[in-house]
Amino acid sequence: MRYDVLTLFPEMISAYLQEGILARAVKGGLIRVEITDIRDYARGPHRTADDRPFGGGDGMVMKPGPLYRALESVPRTGERSLVMLMTPQGEPFTQRMAWELSEAEQLILVCGRYEGVDERIRKLAIDRELSVGDYVLSGGELGALIVMDAVSRLIPGVLGGERSNKEDSFEDGLLEYPQYTRPRIFQGEEVPEVLLSGNHEKIRLWRRSQSLKRTLEKRPDMLRTASLSPEDEKILEKLDKKS
Ligand code: SAH
Repeated sequence: MRYDVLTLFPEMISAYLQEGILARAVKGGLIRVEITDIRDYARGPHRTADDRPFGGGDGMVMKPGPLYRALESVPRTGERSLVMLMTPQGEPFTQRMAWELSEAEQLILVCGRYEGVDERIRKLAIDRELSVGDYVLSGGELGALIVMDAVSRLIPGVLGGERSNKEDSFEDGLLEYPQYTRPRIFQGEEVPEVLLSGNHEKIRLWRRSQSLKRTLEKRPDMLRTASLSPEDEKILEKLDKKS
C-alpha cells in the first residue's frame, strides 16, 4: 500500500510515523508513505496557499492552484488508486470502510486547513470524501493519520504474528470483551476466575457473552446490524432477563 499525504503541515504526519506499528510497517516495506508539502506548489514571493473567500465571510480558503498542482505531481500506481479529501462533510469513516480501503493500491489523502478547500478541487480531483466523525477539526492531518492507521493494521503482516485484529471491537459488529493481564489481584480487584481456569470453551463463552453484554449496554445500536449466531441470541435472551 502506498499512501500519499498532501498537507500544509508535513511534520505533523512524519512525527506520527516515527514510532509504533506504522513505523515498523514502513521499515518492513509493508506500507510506503510519501508526504507532499502543498506549499511547494504555491507561487509568488510569499508562496501563499490560501486566500479570502469570494462573497466575503470569515476565515481563509485553500487556493485551488497549489493543491491541484500538488495532486498532479503525485505519481499514480494504477487503477486501484483513490484520491480522498478529508472533510467533516464526507462519508463517515468506519471499520468496514477501513477494510474496503485496505484493498486499494494507493490512497492519496488531501488534508484541508482553514475553512477548507476551494469547491472546484472536489469536482476536478477528488474521488471520495471522508469524515472521521461529527465534529470539526482544525485540519485534515489527524483524519489522514486515523485513516492510515486503521487501514494499515488490516494489511497482512502489519500487526505481526503475535497480534490479530479478528477479535477487535467492530470486526463482528460487536465491542470486544474486557482484557486482563498480571497481577491477578490489583488494588483488591481480582481477575475473573474463568480466565484462570484453562478451560478454553468456557473462556470463549465468557468472552462472547461479555462482548454481547458490553455492546448491549454501551452501543445497543450496533446489535441491530451485528451478525449473531443462535448461541448469541440465547446469551442475549438471558442477559435481557437479568436486567
Ligand atoms: N468549513 C469547513 C470545515 C473546515 S475544517 C466545513 O464546515 O465543512 C478544516 C479542515 O479540517 C477541513 O478542510 C478538513 O480537511 C479537516 N477536517 C475537519 N473536520 C474533519 C472531520 N470531521 N473529518 C475529516 N476532516 C476534517
